Amino acid sequence: MTTTAKPSAPVAIAKHIYTFAEGSAAMRDLLGGKGANLCEMAEMGLPVPPGFVITTETCREFIARDGSLPDSFWAELRGYLTGLEVEAGKHLGDAENPLLVSVRSGGKYSMPGMMDTILNLGLTDRSVEGLAAQTRNPRFAYDAYRRFLALYGKVVLEIEGERFDTLLDAAKAHAGVTSDAHLSVDALKALVTQFKALIEQESGCPVPQDAWEQLRGAILAVFRSWNNERAIIYRNREQIPHDLGTACNIVAMVFGNMGEDSGTGVAFTRDPNTGERVFYGEFLRNAQGEDVVAGVRTPQPISRLYDEDAALYDQLTGLGQELERHYHDMQDIEFTIERGQLFVLQCRSGKRTGAAAVRIAVELVEERLISAQEAVLRVSPEQLEQLLHPHLKPGSDVTPLARGLDAGPGAAVGRIALDKERAIEMHAQGEDVILVRRTTTPDDLSGMLASKGVLTAEGGRTSHAALVARQYGIPTVCGLGALRIDDDARTVFVNGITLREGDVITIDGGTGDVYAVALETEAPAVSPEFGALMEWADAARRLRVRANADTPEQAAIAVRFGAEGIGLCRTEHMFLGDRLPSVQRAILATDPEVRRRAIFDLLPTQRADFIGIFEAMADLPVTIRLLDPPMSEFLPDPVQLLREIIDLMHDDRDHPGIAARETLLAAAEGLHEVNPMLGTRGVRLSLMIPDFVEMQVEAIIGAASHVKRAGGNPHVEIMIPLVAHVSELTRIKIQLDRVAQRTMAEEGVTIDYSFGTMIEVPRAALTAEEIGREASFFSFGTNDLTQGAWMLSRDDAAEYIGFLQQNEMVKIDPTASIDRAGVGRLMRICVEDGLRANPNLKLGICGEHGGDPSSVQFCHEIGLHYVSCSPSRIPVARLAAAHAALGDRERDK
Ligand code: PEP
Ligand code: MG
Repeated sequence: MTTTAKPSAPVAIAKHIYTFAEGSAAMRDLLGGKGANLCEMAEMGLPVPPGFVITTETCREFIARDGSLPDSFWAELRGYLTGLEVEAGKHLGDAENPLLVSVRSGGKYSMPGMMDTILNLGLTDRSVEGLAAQTRNPRFAYDAYRRFLALYGKVVLEIEGERFDTLLDAAKAHAGVTSDAHLSVDALKALVTQFKALIEQESGCPVPQDAWEQLRGAILAVFRSWNNERAIIYRNREQIPHDLGTACNIVAMVFGNMGEDSGTGVAFTRDPNTGERVFYGEFLRNAQGEDVVAGVRTPQPISRLYDEDAALYDQLTGLGQELERHYHDMQDIEFTIERGQLFVLQCRSGKRTGAAAVRIAVELVEERLISAQEAVLRVSPEQLEQLLHPHLKPGSDVTPLARGLDAGPGAAVGRIALDKERAIEMHAQGEDVILVRRTTTPDDLSGMLASKGVLTAEGGRTSHAALVARQYGIPTVCGLGALRIDDDARTVFVNGITLREGDVITIDGGTGDVYAVALETEAPAVSPEFGALMEWADAARRLRVRANADTPEQAAIAVRFGAEGIGLCRTEHMFLGDRLPSVQRAILATDPEVRRRAIFDLLPTQRADFIGIFEAMADLPVTIRLLDPPMSEFLPDPVQLLREIIDLMHDDRDHPGIAARETLLAAAEGLHEVNPMLGTRGVRLSLMIPDFVEMQVEAIIGAASHVKRAGGNPHVEIMIPLVAHVSELTRIKIQLDRVAQRTMAEEGVTIDYSFGTMIEVPRAALTAEEIGREASFFSFGTNDLTQGAWMLSRDDAAEYIGFLQQNEMVKIDPTASIDRAGVGRLMRICVEDGLRANPNLKLGICGEHGGDPSSVQFCHEIGLHYVSCSPSRIPVARLAAAHAALGDRERDK
C-alpha cells in the first residue's frame, strides 16, 4: 500500500473550530466542502441543524503529532460544544434531554464514502432512556442506540462491521421480519445488549458511557480515516493531494427514523445520468442517511414523496432550485424529514456522467447561469471520453436474464468476479471483469476500478456503487433483487439460471438489463449539446487538433470528429497484405535493378492509397511519414520459419515449399539485428536503400497531382522518421526533393509540399537548432522519444512502470502522459532552439501522448501548433486544448 507524506508540525493553531455562522462557502480549504457549504446554507437561511466545523488544519496537526491533538484543542472544543448545547437547548449525554450529534468527515474535495462518519453520538445507557421518554418513542431510541453502537464499534474501535450485520440479520430472522424497520423495541434492546457484549469482547473495554469520551474518540477516528486505505487509493486516482487533511463536522442530529412521518434521502437537482432538468433522487421512510448511501435497503423514487406530501416535496424542490441558482450548478442534496419537518444536511455539486455533464453545462448557459467558456471548463476531458462510451448494438433479440436499476453509464461485457481480490487478479490476467456483489462498500473501490462493469443485488441509484461508477464511467446495474450470490460455491443464481465465477455476462447500465451472454457493443451517437459544447471549445482553443490516420476510412472518421488535418499517416501497413510478396522480392533481391523494379511494382497501389487520403482530407494538411520499420519486420519470424521447414522435411524431404522458406530464413538471419528498435530503421534504412522512399515520394506527389487536377487542393507534408543527426535529413531531403520536382514536372502540376522530421531521438531534440534550419516542421514522436529518453523498451515497459507506480516512485506512466521533467524538458529545449533557427517552423506532436489531456495541456504550454491523436480521441483533445487556453486567460486576469 502507498504511504503518504507526513505534514510537518504546524505552529500553534489559534482557532481550530468555526460555527456555521462564522464560516462561508469560500472557506473550503479550511472547512472542507461539506463544512463550507453547511455554513453557506445556514447563511442563506435554509433549514440546517446547528453545528460547528473542526478545520482541516486540525487534521494536519493530528497527523503531524502522530495521532493526538493538543490540550488547547480540547478546551476549545468544550467551549463550542457548550455553544451548540445552548443553541439546541439540549445537553450531550444528558439523562433527560440528551443532545445527539453526528461526527462527519469532509475534505476540500468530495470523496464519497471514503472516510468515516459516526451518527447518534451521545447515546449511553442513561441517555437512551431520556431520548425514549422525551420522544415517547422507545423503539426509535433503541434503534438509534444500536446504530450508534455498531458505527462506534466499527469506526472508532475498528471491529469488523460484518460482525454487527450478522447479529442484525440473526435478529431479523428470529423476529421473522425482512426489514430492520420492523424490529420491535424488545428485539432492538436485545440487539443493543449483544452489540455491547461484542464490543467489550473485541476491544477489551466497554463502550464509553461518558458522551464526552465518545466525542473525543469519534473526532480522532474521523481524522484517522483521512489516511485509510480506500481514501488513499481514491486520492491517488483523483490526484487529490494527500496533505490536505479532512475537516470534521459536528452537527446536532435530526432523525429520519422517528416513524412513518420521517425519512431521509438524497436528491439531485437534475438527472445525474442524462442531465435532464428533472428533480431526481430517492428516499427511505423511517430510516437514517447511512441506509440510503450504503444501499442497505432499496429506496423509493423521490416522486413518491410528491404523492405522499406535495407541500414537503415542493419545499424540497424549491430549496434545490435556490441552491442551483446560488451555486450555478447542479446540486446533490442530502436531506432528512423529522416528523414532517425538512432539514438539509449537505449540498455539493453533484457527480454526473459525461453525457449529463455536457447537457447540464450547455443548458446552464441557455438559462444564463454560466458563460459558454465556463461551460467548456465544467466538462472534463475524462467526462467527454466517458460520453464516447460503448452501448449495446441495437437489433439484438437476446432476452435479458433480469433487470436491475440503471445506475449507468454504458454497456459492459466481461467475466464474473465475486470479490475485489478476484476482480483484480482476473484484470491482471488481461480479462474483462464484471464485479458482482450483494452490495458494494467503499472498500470495494479497487475491485471496481479493475472492472469493466459492476452488478449489485442491493442498493439504489445513489448507493455507493452507483456514485462511484458514474464518476468513473463504469457501467453499473444496481439493486437486482433477483440476484442470489453463493460465496462458497462461487456461483450466482438469477431467475432460475446459475452462473459461475468466470462466466461471461453483459450488463447495460443505461437500462439495467443483465444478459447471460456476451453481446456486441458499439460507440454512442453524439447529442446536439455535444456539438454546441465542442463549438465553444473550438472557439476558445489555440492548439489545432489533427488525427493519426492511415487510411481513407480513418481519415473520414477523423474529419467527422473534427480533425483539422492528418498529423501522422503511418505508411507501414501499405507494405503488407497482398503487397507483401513484392516487398519480400525486393528484400531478397541481390541485384539492385531487380530490387528497384520490385519496389516500383508497388507504385500504382501506393498512389491509389494517397489519392484516397487526400480526397478525404480535402484542403486540410496531410503529414505522411515515410517507411519507418526495419526490413526484418517484413519477413516471417526465423524461429517460425525453421519450425515450418522441419515440419515439411518430416513429411517429405523434397517438399517444394522448403527451398522458398530456406531463402527467407537466410534473408531474415542476414537482416537480424540484436536491437532492431535501435537499428536500421527510419531514415537510416532510407539512406541505405533509397528505392522505397523514392517510390513513396513519387506516389505521394503523383497522387496529389491527380487530386489537384480533379479540382482538389492537397497540402502535403512529407515526414522523415528517426533523424538523429542533421546530415541524415539534409542528404535524404536532397534525394527526395529531386524526385518530387521531377514528378511535378512529369505531371505538369505544382504541389504545395514540404519536408519535415519527427523528433523522436533525444539527440535530435538536443540539436534542434541545426535540424530546424533544414526542416519545415517538427513532429514530436513521443513514443520513441520516451523510449529513448528512458532507455526503456516501449513494448515491454508495462510491468516495470507498474512497479514504479505502485511504489509511488513515479506519479504518471510516461508512456501514457508526457514525463515533463525528462521528455518534456527535451521538448522544451527543442522548441526553443528550433524556433531560434527557423521562426516559421511548424510544431506538432504525433506520439500517443497527443490524445492525453495532461499532455495536451503541456503541448499548449510549450507553444506547439497542433497535437495529433487517434480519431476517437479528437474531441477529448479539442476540449483539453480549450481548457489549456482558458486556463491561460484565467491566469492573465
Ligand atoms: C512515435 O515514436 O511517437 C511515433 C509516432 O512513431 P511510431 O509510434 O510509429 O514509432
Ligand atoms: Mg516512432
